Amino acid sequence: MKWKGRTKSGNVSDRRIGGSKTAIGGVGIAVLLIYTLITGDPSALLGNLFNGGSNNNEPLTAEEVEMGDFVSVILADTEVVWRKVFAEYDEVYQPAKLVLYRNTTDSGCGTASSNVGPFYCSIDQTIYIDLIFYKDLKTRFNAPGDFAMAYVIAHEVGHHIQYQLGILEKFYDLRSQVSTIEFNELSVRLELQADYLAGVWAHHIQGMGYLEEGDLQEAITAAGAVGDDRIQEQSQGRVNPDNFTHGTSEQRVRWFKKGFESGNLDDFDTFSAETLYFRNALLIA
Ligand SMILES: [Zn+2]
Repeated sequence: MKWKGRTKSGNVSDRRIGGSKTAIGGVGIAVLLIYTLITGDPSALLGNLFNGGSNNNEPLTAEEVEMGDFVSVILADTEVVWRKVFAEYDEVYQPAKLVLYRNTTDSGCGTASSNVGPFYCSIDQTIYIDLIFYKDLKTRFNAPGDFAMAYVIAHEVGHHIQYQLGILEKFYDLRSQVSTIEFNELSVRLELQADYLAGVWAHHIQGMGYLEEGDLQEAITAAGAVGDDRIQEQSQGRVNPDNFTHGTSEQRVRWFKKGFESGNLDDFDTFSAETLYFRNALLIA
């Protein structure tokens, strides 16, 4: 992606060096309000005091500095794109904030830990990312490339869009009204919608001429790599669709592509799309 030398967002706070931890309340309840990229370990957010041998006093490497700059440009790009798309619907986009951290940090939703992966906390409307995940994408998920990471950020910004449109609130309200399996299915729809929104963003980035050869494929590979079926297969050796919360690889790629093709919010209603209920590789295109 063409990003070097471009405008950075003013909404990034970099806590990678000297980040201090303070106690905050409400952790147990808030854990349900985070919206992740992947099905992570929720207990990683429960604020246990293990801080992973924090290396917060080690200076950033040149590579880490560059990754921070990259994230900041991507966030600025989401601000430009969503301001424009919201304006088309006579809405005003309020940008998300983003925190970079190493190992652990405080969030409005509890203590953030790298184990949970990138996530969005709707309480403070902030995305939290430990950039170690960039390496995970490359090694654990086999999804290298700058636009793979751009997709991750755009997905989390997608949750922020859902917050602004009141979708997260409705989603959260349903939790007490449905069974766990039904809630997981709703969660899949929510996550696929965030993938669609990431695709919408990528559409506009292409329109602005920032995509390089191979970028789109990097995002598609990343979306496929974080599918529940693939992650379960790799970690447990088997797949249990009842536990899906983010969608299969095929679904994630399909909804990302759908957003990319449309570039707007007209087709983003994953909640009434019937094809989501097919639960195997024979998904309808
Ligand atoms: Zn998500």
